[in-house]
Amino acid sequence: MERMDTISLGDVEITRVTEVRGMSLPRDAVFPDVDAGHWREHQHWLAPEYFDPAADEVRASVQTWVLRSEGRTILVDTGIGNGRERPYMPVFAHLDTDFLGELATAGVRPEDVDVVVCTHLHGDHVGWNTHLVDREWQPTFPNAEYVVARADFEYWNPENQIRTRSGRRMQNVFEDSVAPVHRAGQTVLWEGDHHDVDAHLRIEPAPGHTPGSSVLHLRSGTERAVFVGDLLHSPLQIAEPDCSPCFDEDEARASTERRRILGWTADHNALLFPAHFPGPGAAQVRRDGGRFAVKEWATWR
Ligand SMILES: [Zn+2]
Repeated sequence: MERMDTISLGDVEITRVTEVRGMSLPRDAVFPDVDAGHWREHQHWLAPEYFDPAADEVRASVQTWVLRSEGRTILVDTGIGNGRERPYMPVFAHLDTDFLGELATAGVRPEDVDVVVCTHLHGDHVGWNTHLVDREWQPTFPNAEYVVARADFEYWNPENQIRTRSGRRMQNVFEDSVAPVHRAGQTVLWEGDHHDVDAHLRIEPAPGHTPGSSVLHLRSGTERAVFVGDLLHSPLQIAEPDCSPCFDEDEARASTERRRILGWTADHNALLFPAHFPGPGAAQVRRDGGRFAVKEWATWR
């Protein structure tokens, strides 16, 4: 059966390719600093899709957004990848998914990809940047440029020996998923206040989750969308924007950016595309006093 997961916004077509569906993670491990009362207060609309109250688990997906714009194919984040050694992040270790098959079902062969946008360099966003060829990690997308914020490239490069909050959870990620692409001359390291992918797509900084975390703005005709990576991990954070997961390197800065970008999407009727929402995966939000609420979930054809 053919399953289409596509939305067209102006001249840009968005297709969802899911690497991992319905991952369950212990709530208190992912959100150790968030009062359990917030989850109880919102469970009537978070359960069962985004929160399992009985198991006390947060539900998440890992997905790549495939954009077709101006005749080119752009991937936003590349998931966890197969066959990884992640001794301190076992949920990401030794996967064997058919991600490239899913990508092919969406009509994309590796050689067709023109641009890979990495919203940040965590292990669940850069995995399919590379794959194993003769036991060596090589770029999966031979013709693509991989767009990475220089701030993240420097922060996560082990050569710089920066003490990060993620610590050992990031072990091997830079080495197997970022460095091989850089060695192949395929990275574009950007800095400053924006990087334009094309006339419709602009990357802007949104630091906090990581120092180089960024969002991709889509503008085409009157349509607006923002691909926000890990600005949010759960829809709870739409209603409670100050709730941060343990993965935010700088929680205060992440909250500030979360509020700023949620405000922008609400004020511009933009579709919000986080990396990890299961279910409809994307939403329009509205302001709700000092907080936000889901106005409408995305519908796919
Ligand atoms: Zn993530």
